[in-house]
Amino acid sequence: MTVKKMAMTAHEALKHYFGHNDFRGGQETLINGILAGKDTVGIMPTGAGKSICFQVPSLMMDGVALVVSPLIALMKDQVNALTRSGIPAAYVNSSLTQGQVDKALRNAVNGAYKLIYVAPERLPTPDFMAFARSVNISMLAVDEAHCISQWGHDFRPSYTRIPDFIAKLSKRPVLSAFTATATPKVRADILAQLNLRDPQILIAGFDRKNLYFGARKPRNKYDALTAFLKEREGRSGIVYCGTRSYVEIMCKRLKVSGYSVSRYHAGLLDKERHDNQDDFLYDRIKIMVATNAFGMGIDKSNVSFVLHLNMPKDIESYYQEAGRAGRNGEPAECVLFYSDRDIRMNAWLLENDKESWHSDKEIGRRLKDRSRERMRDIVSYCTTTGCLRGFILKYFGETPPDKCGNCDRCNAVAVTTDEADTVKKVGAKKKTAKAKTTDKAVTKKEAVKAKIAVKADTKKDPTKTNITDSVDTQKNVVNTKIAGKAVAKKKTIKAKITDKAATKKKTGVTAYNEDNTADVVTHVKITDKPAPVSAIAGRINEYLAPRNRREVSAAGINEWLVSEGYIDTINDKGKNRKISTDNGISAGIITEIRKVGGERVRVNQFDRKAQEMVIAKFCGAEGFADDYAGLTEPAQNLCKQFLENSTVTPDLTPRPNEEREIELEEPALDEHGADAETLPFSDDSTVMPGLSPRSHEEQGGEREEQALNEYDTGAETFSEPVETIKQRRTMFSIIIDALKSLGMVFSKK
Ligand code: ZN
Repeated sequence: MTVKKMAMTAHEALKHYFGHNDFRGGQETLINGILAGKDTVGIMPTGAGKSICFQVPSLMMDGVALVVSPLIALMKDQVNALTRSGIPAAYVNSSLTQGQVDKALRNAVNGAYKLIYVAPERLPTPDFMAFARSVNISMLAVDEAHCISQWGHDFRPSYTRIPDFIAKLSKRPVLSAFTATATPKVRADILAQLNLRDPQILIAGFDRKNLYFGARKPRNKYDALTAFLKEREGRSGIVYCGTRSYVEIMCKRLKVSGYSVSRYHAGLLDKERHDNQDDFLYDRIKIMVATNAFGMGIDKSNVSFVLHLNMPKDIESYYQEAGRAGRNGEPAECVLFYSDRDIRMNAWLLENDKESWHSDKEIGRRLKDRSRERMRDIVSYCTTTGCLRGFILKYFGETPPDKCGNCDRCNAVAVTTDEADTVKKVGAKKKTAKAKTTDKAVTKKEAVKAKIAVKADTKKDPTKTNITDSVDTQKNVVNTKIAGKAVAKKKTIKAKITDKAATKKKTGVTAYNEDNTADVVTHVKITDKPAPVSAIAGRINEYLAPRNRREVSAAGINEWLVSEGYIDTINDKGKNRKISTDNGISAGIITEIRKVGGERVRVNQFDRKAQEMVIAKFCGAEGFADDYAGLTEPAQNLCKQFLENSTVTPDLTPRPNEEREIELEEPALDEHGADAETLPFSDDSTVMPGLSPRSHEEQGGEREEQALNEYDTGAETFSEPVETIKQRRTMFSIIIDALKSLGMVFSKK
């Protein structure tokens, strides 16, 4: 049957099934292309209605259309929506039992569906292949087509098997590929990898004029957030946080402050996620605080702002998330709050990203390099002094005007909340920009050498400094700043801890987030004054608790000390008492006898050295105040590079455990233990358990399926990353050395 014989035109189908009167920018062109049998590529920003472009023609073509999609939850959403509109559709993925899959495929063979959504891993399986060869496939639509490209931010090896699948079909269907996010490089890659034949390509403009863009570096994110929300009372918006725990904290605080707020992240139970999402969709609550697990497949038109409290990993992710604002065409705001800590956190994540641990080292290295590149881009976005919209549009290959008049930079909104500081920074940045090219070429070691050399030079010959170009001067300034601020910071932290400990005593609750969530205790306090084991346990817990790590008890510490031979249990008048052994004494544990209420009691006091020993045991190297602990060397380099290039202050407080949580944002919520680590899909968007009743099995199943495929094909496998405490300790000493060489000496003694 040809198009002409169909009773319904594309317009009529649009009206009948989707309730729209007219196509929007580009949709009709793409649909006509597909109907004319042409391969088609649609690159359209989120919210432009790309799914209509393959759904409408599938209704008008003979046979069944296959839609390849990596997102199980999104498949389910789309199929449900189609079914509600009276369009026969089904999905085949691991959320179904084998029986259900068989049934769906049998129905499909009998012509029951116009569209079948399928996960890319499913394509090469014998069952599916047999099915595909036995039916008339009208079209193969590849959704989220950027996943096929190693240049993209979301490369999925399973996508590269699509061409193979097509080649094995008895008849080549019309191919179409869609994505909301593709840089020019990724677009080229999509065309090449899918072997598209003379495709018609439509790139809908990425510019969304109703969106205002902001990138700010507030002193205190919570204060800035509440100030922002106060001015937008009654409006609906999304507040994105980098981690689940940050979502929890922010949501709680906003609720206490009286905001209409709910939360969403992958760690919540399905029911709560569902309910919260509905509350937001139906305007029962105004503000959704969420991780990036929230938003995929959600079409809420009146979101009037999207505020990011942490820096996303790249511009693609940012633009996709920010793009959820203003779908109704009304003015809306996309504001990003970033901090130096965000940069470090992202660097840490990137270096520890299991997804890019590729069995092929060369590919793995390449993927990582590209991720680093993308990360530099988002940092540049945050710190640019030029038009923010322009930056994004250029990123996606457009040529925007110099100024848009609708962003923080064009409208001269302060970069930080502190005016004086802003002025300083803008000035400094201009100079740094000049120096960037030079800097990049210099490797880390050379940079360190250069710095030392410059410093030495400066001392020897003051006139030389004047002649030396601004690069070196700038570096020195930055260096001095870093050193100065690090010292200042240490003092502040100490003061804060003391403060907080006091608050804790008074209120009986952990006060670590009282003032500023970013100020979670960065290391365990060590005092010159000897401290008893209970005090040390308290300090350790103040550090561990916000990181969701298991707390320790004084008894637990004692138990370890006994097992190591540092203390011993003696019987003192029928009571068991712990006293320091010779080993313990030389380790710095002194047993004192004190009089308490007329009774003599023994108290073990830990001197500085002994405190360090206990902290090292229970917190690892990261419990200390060294700024780079927990970061892998490439991550440190990356951090340093950013610090050097952007004159930021070193608030170097890695929190590996919380970071690990986001890394595992999605797998961690399931109970599959170690399996979760090898989950091939580990970004939030892949699976949204809240939207699926069988989410755990779904993930497990998907994993098995993937594993099976990999076994079959001998293709990509994801090796288990090896990271042990031992390694980290070694890294710790390396870091200390590196810092010493930079003049940033942190004494552990
Ligand atoms: Zn602008």
